[in-house]
Amino acid sequence: MRITALAGGVGGARFLRGLLHHLESVSGPDAAPHDLTIVANTGDDITLFGLRVSPDIDTLLYTLGGGISEAQGWGRAEESHRVQSELAAYGAQPQWFGLGDLDFATHIVRSQWLGQGATLSEVTSRLASRWGLPDRGVRVMPMTDAPVETHVVVEDEQGQRAIHFQEWWVRHGATLPAQRFVVAGLDRAAPAPGVLEAIRDADVILLPPSNPVVSIGIILGIPGVRDALRGSRAPVVGVSPLIDGQPVRGHADACLAAIGVPSTSVAVAGLYEDFLDAWLIDPADAGIRLPRARVAIHQGPLLMRDVESAADIAGAALALATGLRP
Ligand code: GDP
Ligand code: CA
Repeated sequence: MRITALAGGVGGARFLRGLLHHLESVSGPDAAPHDLTIVANTGDDITLFGLRVSPDIDTLLYTLGGGISEAQGWGRAEESHRVQSELAAYGAQPQWFGLGDLDFATHIVRSQWLGQGATLSEVTSRLASRWGLPDRGVRVMPMTDAPVETHVVVEDEQGQRAIHFQEWWVRHGATLPAQRFVVAGLDRAAPAPGVLEAIRDADVILLPPSNPVVSIGIILGIPGVRDALRGSRAPVVGVSPLIDGQPVRGHADACLAAIGVPSTSVAVAGLYEDFLDAWLIDPADAGIRLPRARVAIHQGPLLMRDVESAADIAGAALALATGLRP
């Protein structure tokens, strides 16, 4: 079965790790082999200390490859910060973005390969091999090979200005009221090789509980992606990132507010209603009705406490999707 998923960082990665766990635990001689293609958001990408950092791709690779810091949800397990301390001693900026020593190696090798002329797709596929993903039937691809950066227009005592998404999210904890998001390079960005094909040829398309605005929303803005989803013959099933109207972690509510959308599971589904077939919500959000009846609403507990609970949620989403297959 060919499964294609669009994903951001932590929410996407935890869901997809659960999905793999589910697929691998049901696999056996009788199970159909799976082929999972993950289209990752790269709007969070940033250049720091001359190195290209792709936070969502790295969170996906580390989580699926077993190298993630479980406590943080991003970055490497058993990490040290000697390089960052040394950079601080030199007064190098910025200091607000945490980069550990093991994590630095990823950014160094990514930057080296990009400098040698490799595309971000090629780099990502080489990084994914190191984490053993091809052997498990998983491909991770950036949404585009073009540089795309999400910026946030904010206004404070310094006046109105646009800052990089990471500065807003990490440095300011999304507390500066965002007026809007401006995604530099988005309108000219072509989908990375294989992205439209992965949507077109999928048997099932899943939207993990990733941030609807700054993760999935950015991927949907790549020219051609949304049309491919609308035209796809595969059922599209999504999982709400909100439980009882609140993000489980992060600041999806602040992002939704910036685009004028209420922080409810129904409103999030509304962002996808032109291509969504089914939407999984938590029982805490029961009673919601979708503007368009063609999206089937299903309920199930959506808190990913550990790999097993994420596997249960992913299994439920997959069962819904396979039930909808033509
Ligand atoms: P980011 O790029 O690291 O911010 O990660 P994503 O965009 O992939 O996912 C962020 C979203 O995941 C947030 O809006 C969270 O509400 C959601 N999320 C995190 N943990 C859970 C969980 O256990 N259950 C559900 N349903 N959503 C979650
Ligand atoms: Ca992200």
